[in-house]
Amino acid sequence: MSFIKSLLKETIVQVAVDTPVNRLFDYIWNHEHLGCEPRRGQIISVEFGKKEMIGVVINEIEKSNFDINKIKRVTDLAPLPLLSEDLMSMAEFASSYYLKSIGEILIPSIPKHWRQKEKWELLIKEKRINKKAKIKVIKESEYQKEIELNKEQTTAVEELERSSKKKKFNCYLLQGVTGSGKTLTYLRWLSKVLEGDQTQVLIMVPEINLTPQLEESIRSAFPELPLIVLHSGLTDRTRADNWAQASKGHARIILGTRMAVMASIPNLCAIVVDEEHDQSYKQQEGVRYSARDLAVWRAKKLEVPILLVSATPSLETWFNAEEKKYKKLSLEQRAAKNAVKPTVDIVDLNLDRKAGNKNAHGFSQHLLNGITKNLENRQQTLIFINRRGYSPVLNCEACVWISDCIKCSAHMVLHRPNNERATLCCHHCGLLKQIPKACPSCGNADLIPSGKGTQKVEEYLTQEFPNAKILRIDADTTRKKGSAEELFGAVHDGQADIIVGTQMITKGHDYQSVSLVGVIDADASLFSQDYRAAERLFAQLMQVTGRAGRSDQSGASRVVVQTRYPTAAPYKYLKLDEVNGFLSELCAERKMVGLPPFSYQALLHAEHRTLSSAIEMLKNAATLSQKSSEWPSGISMSDVVPKTMVRLAGQERAQILLECTNRQTLLKALEIFQEAITSQNTKRKGVGWYIERDPIML
Ligand SMILES: [Zn+2]
Ligand SMILES: [Zn+2]
Repeated sequence: MSFIKSLLKETIVQVAVDTPVNRLFDYIWNHEHLGCEPRRGQIISVEFGKKEMIGVVINEIEKSNFDINKIKRVTDLAPLPLLSEDLMSMAEFASSYYLKSIGEILIPSIPKHWRQKEKWELLIKEKRINKKAKIKVIKESEYQKEIELNKEQTTAVEELERSSKKKKFNCYLLQGVTGSGKTLTYLRWLSKVLEGDQTQVLIMVPEINLTPQLEESIRSAFPELPLIVLHSGLTDRTRADNWAQASKGHARIILGTRMAVMASIPNLCAIVVDEEHDQSYKQQEGVRYSARDLAVWRAKKLEVPILLVSATPSLETWFNAEEKKYKKLSLEQRAAKNAVKPTVDIVDLNLDRKAGNKNAHGFSQHLLNGITKNLENRQQTLIFINRRGYSPVLNCEACVWISDCIKCSAHMVLHRPNNERATLCCHHCGLLKQIPKACPSCGNADLIPSGKGTQKVEEYLTQEFPNAKILRIDADTTRKKGSAEELFGAVHDGQADIIVGTQMITKGHDYQSVSLVGVIDADASLFSQDYRAAERLFAQLMQVTGRAGRSDQSGASRVVVQTRYPTAAPYKYLKLDEVNGFLSELCAERKMVGLPPFSYQALLHAEHRTLSSAIEMLKNAATLSQKSSEWPSGISMSDVVPKTMVRLAGQERAQILLECTNRQTLLKALEIFQEAITSQNTKRKGVGWYIERDPIML
């Protein structure tokens, strides 16, 4: 009798735990002890091995296949609502697609403090949130509510509204030139969605800490609605609080970076992915997921509309719109009054040199003249160079010594901090070294910095224009918390005449009086082995071009791009201002050689202290896989090759690329490959590895 009674009180649940073992784990659910029935999506605490860990209930089963006496009990329930069902399904999908366990997908997406049982009590004593504290009222809010949409914007908003009213899945691409009012358009749509009872919306952005302006304008567009942000720059406590606000349905607007796609949002009704082409949507460690792709999957599951926004869409998204899988909404007019398109000058450095300008410092005469004129007119100039530091390499003139990193196949970059001694720094592993007094190889005292980074450009401009106020914005000058805001604030307040910066200056900032943009040293990416390099360069150039002439304050504006290859496609289409032209040329090239989006790729990566071990592991696994009777046909497999950058932080790296025109077939092959790798005793041999689907960098 007592046996039956205890049976009634106890059931078995299958739990996902953060471990690479790809299965669920059985636990006993004692109703009396836990005070409720088990439910899918419940966050719990369990004993796993000898540790107390967090798990998520996936299902309840009648009978375990394991010895009931060896099954442990669920120890505790987190004081949190269930994870939303769409998130649970998405995690299951991601688990099979990315070949990871459900726990590896779900658990790391839960903020750290919620993963620590001892912190739960503290966390439920909710912080009294000072709602007004962070909301600065800015002029733009009034502007946004009152501004009348133009015809294109109205059409877009109406189409989106129809879709959300029907509660239907539709994936839209909002493609519009910089300054065409894309943000305004989607905020107007979301404001309609948010009129619904308890509705929640998710806005994803590439790098929120770089765009406080966007956060402010969204906050001020909805001053009465609770908004939370989710990104890696938050303290653990704030992130835990914000995440809980979203999962309880209290936060109506969730604004975040790629991690936000993994938030539990019970009443999610609309998703926006801003700058959808940005590579930071792809996670480059752990589960190498694409947050944009998962967001589309999630919207489909929920049957809600999703809007992908970009001035330069990724080729995948653009192609889906061409094929009518996605619906395209175009904004072709610049919305701001009097804002005019900048003139683009492609300066051929070969001709510049022939004309007698040595451009030793990387500046053509044309660009220098432009800066001089701009200074006279009291307009701001932006100089874009995508390399930080002083010089990318230091070398000896007497012998062949160059400043190589001992741990990576890369040069150490020369940095010149103010007031301190210069250092050499590896941008890949972070190694720092003092500058040698003389060449370590031959003793020669003359070591020459070659090439240029932001510091050197800043130094040169300071000499050339001694009366100009020059500001540098890159990862080095914005390292301290709040310093990025400070620097951008100074730019907006007109405290800088010339701004020198890396891609940080290109993203999402509205510069009101920049009328000249200079691009130097962009050619390097034309010769990258990565077939996506041209696409990235073009997006970057369009983005930086969009920084000029944002408002009527700046008047006629100009973009000067210096190159030795003026006929290369990214420059040609930049000059023509034809995004669609560039993308259709790129698309035709990819089609001819069968690259994505005309095929699907997966990368098998291995690393070890010695290259031979990494290569051997992959070779063995490849042979083993291809011998399998289940190995599908239609898979093309590359040779095992060392990576372009073979050594990183002391590890030698190799890879194999698999390609197939069918996603399912590719998955089948990857499952076999994964098993073959697992049989290689990689742990004992110390070989690290991972499988990456849809890689964006090769
Ligand atoms: Zn030397
Ligand atoms: Zn290094």
